Amino acid sequence: MIDIASPLRLRLDSTALVRNWQWLAARSPGACGAAIKADGYGLGAAKVMRHLAAAGCRDFFVATWAEAAALMPLAGDVSLSVFHGVGDADMVAARTLPARPVLNSVEQVRRWRAAGEGRPCDIMVDTGMNRLGLRVEEAIGGALGGLAIDTLLSHLASADEDSEQNARQLAAFRTVRQAVPARRYSLANSAGICLGPDYGFDLTRPGLALYGGVPRREAAGHIRQVAFPEARVLQVREVRKGEPVGYGATWVAPAEGRVAIANMGYADGYLRCHAGQGGAAWRARDLPLVGRVSMDLIAFDASAADGLAEGDWLALDYDLPSTAVRSGLSQYELLTGLGTRFDRCWISKEP
Ligand SMILES: *Cc1c(COP(=O)(O)O)cnc(C)c1O
Repeated sequence: MIDIASPLRLRLDSTALVRNWQWLAARSPGACGAAIKADGYGLGAAKVMRHLAAAGCRDFFVATWAEAAALMPLAGDVSLSVFHGVGDADMVAARTLPARPVLNSVEQVRRWRAAGEGRPCDIMVDTGMNRLGLRVEEAIGGALGGLAIDTLLSHLASADEDSEQNARQLAAFRTVRQAVPARRYSLANSAGICLGPDYGFDLTRPGLALYGGVPRREAAGHIRQVAFPEARVLQVREVRKGEPVGYGATWVAPAEGRVAIANMGYADGYLRCHAGQGGAAWRARDLPLVGRVSMDLIAFDASAADGLAEGDWLALDYDLPSTAVRSGLSQYELLTGLGTRFDRCWISKEP
């Protein structure tokens, strides 16, 4: 097969990933795991798992059995859980793969009892989000008797805000913990870790903050950017004063200048809402995004970037907290939207 380099690359800083995990682990009173669903929030779950396992992380979480299967074979000492539990169609995978289902309903519990052969499972209890999980009354009312529960989980709905819902969910989780025996208890995601050690219990499950997202102000200045999208310049053109650029002619050159057209667009997850605010850098020069975002192309005002030429790489502005504010996308969407055309290149910025 011919090895064809993509004109898009996602530089991924393994040192930043590991430092972020270490920061979260230092704030977790018990163990600190990692949510690597959605292909490691778009970065590549297998590589994320390998880097974090080498740093000491032992507990990983995916959403589906297809995601679990893609991570096989597992290193011997890591544990993998599947958030969506077991539907009828999942039972073969759930009995075959070395991963635990997170059972989310009385129906899933029944299914696991009938066909799980007594193997350990995790349990999700809904403490007020009304998404997935058994109700508190069900969990403490005997629905879980006799199961081999490894980890009993709940999930916080508003941990990224100073909401009273956090304390209510914490109290409900403590009630369940008193009543239902399990090897471990786990409540906090990235934002939940920032709420303090009361929320940490035996195991935390950060996702976003591992990958450079800042879930709450407590993490600002501590979490480092991990994902750096870069696009290659396909063409540099001269534009005259008054000439429009791109679909709909939404940007008009204010003076004679130069425009760089780069290989990236909304099909790569660089959505149209970046228009008017996005930018890139090349050799410490800022290049503002101009005009609309096309499917596979974007344009930058390169008038100040002397010497920029076809084939050069532009580093997109992609600091997650500030990019989320200006684009209106969430930090999660900014990561998970990055498409399959990027070459994902792991680097270590400071070994
Ligand atoms: C995605 C997810 C996490 C991780 O959440 P972040 O906000 O990304 O830290 C933890 N627990 C559950 C149940 C999840 O679905």
